[in-house]
Amino acid sequence: MEKDIIIIGGGPSGLSTALHLTKIAPHLTSRILILEKEHYPRPKLCAGGLVADAEFILQRLGLDVSEVPHVDASAAHFDFAGKGIKISVPKSHTLRVIRRNEFDHWLAKKTLEAGIEIREGVTVKNIIPNKDGVSIETDRGDFNPQIVIGADGSNGITRSCIFPNAPVYTARVLEVITPDYSVVASGKNASRINNAYFDFFPIPNNIAGYVWDFPTQINGETMRCWGIYDTNLLADQERPPLKNPLAEEMARHGFNLDDHELKGHPIRWYDPSNPVSTPRVLLVGDAAGADSIFGEGISIALGYGAIAAHEISESIRRNEFSFSRYKSRLMRSGLGQTLFARWVITQIIYPLKWRWFQILLWRILKPIVILVAWFFVLNWGKRIKI
Ligand SMILES: Cc1cc2nc3c(=O)[nH]c(=O)nc-3n(C[C@H](O)[C@H](O)[C@H](O)COP(=O)(O)OP(=O)(O)OC[C@H]3O[C@@H](n4cnc5c(N)ncnc54)[C@H](O)[C@@H]3O)c2cc1C
Repeated sequence: MEKDIIIIGGGPSGLSTALHLTKIAPHLTSRILILEKEHYPRPKLCAGGLVADAEFILQRLGLDVSEVPHVDASAAHFDFAGKGIKISVPKSHTLRVIRRNEFDHWLAKKTLEAGIEIREGVTVKNIIPNKDGVSIETDRGDFNPQIVIGADGSNGITRSCIFPNAPVYTARVLEVITPDYSVVASGKNASRINNAYFDFFPIPNNIAGYVWDFPTQINGETMRCWGIYDTNLLADQERPPLKNPLAEEMARHGFNLDDHELKGHPIRWYDPSNPVSTPRVLLVGDAAGADSIFGEGISIALGYGAIAAHEISESIRRNEFSFSRYKSRLMRSGLGQTLFARWVITQIIYPLKWRWFQILLWRILKPIVILVAWFFVLNWGKRIKI
């Protein structure tokens, strides 16, 4: 059977698009091909924090993410300089932390089991839509599908081929893995062990983001994952080197950043003005835009897959591939609503960078922040149609 639906990228957004498509329209399964430049299990820089919406979307696909090695954080703290809001879910974990090499490999196996073909080790070099289809050039030959889904992440080629001049909103992100708190043997860290921390203290220094500290595991050994996220919203003002606040926070808890390998990767975040499709090509996941507040993108990538699958199956039924309704379908969905709300919140909490405002927000207006998070940031997965 000719593969006329090609998904570029086998991360969560590409795999989710394929899995949702095969669930909504099983007759299309044999027509889908995923092209992935790496071989699973491939490394992917990511803290691996899965929110409940990600688990919910996977459950509706019949998948149980507890099969993947993970560490559960019992509470998540949203602080300014060490004090703020603690969120915990009664009788459950608040954040499940996976490693992306393991999670993506697991999801790829589920995709293969669903009968979808994945070709690994194929790098897409160019994408040219035309009126009869799309030409894809790769290092392993050319393809001419009817439809292309750009699921190739923040640095992907699809977006740059179809929208070479569109503005780009990109966060800077650094990450470091350390052993767990047992190596710093400090009693004051004991309460942190099962908790995930987000601390917004760098904002007054024009770093429009936060430092994180999550529990994690590598090959069964408990570790910590630290990092710093900067939306770049205050990039026109003077900022310290991005690694400095991360080093400060780690030092406060007994770790020396310079003893560990620091890695960086951008995250493209969602802005409502971003185009997300052109005739015959649509974008999902980071290629379309992740959450702007936190750079949270795994649940978002899984959500894009559901919306894109509906758009594709309807387009095939109608034999019309303009994808002109994709953006409004996205904006009307629970995913679009949360992406828009998060973009609005981002435009408030980061540019209002004064210390007094941040203290007011994270330490005094707690009930309001929790309410806004509950209605606008979380719980959107249930509003997505499958
Ligand atoms: C440091 C860091 C920490 C993060 N922490 C979290 C977190 O804790 N929780 C969370 O929810 N999100 C987190 N994110 C964001 C999350 O990693 C992304 O939002 C998510 O990976 C997006 O999924 P995706 O499928 O769109 O893209 P990706 O996961 O990037 O997958 C894209 C795939 O496309 C393939 N590809 C790329 N180019 C080509 C090509 N030319 N040809 C063929 N294949 C190609 C890649 O190999 C890759 O497999 C973090 C990101 C970073 C950088």
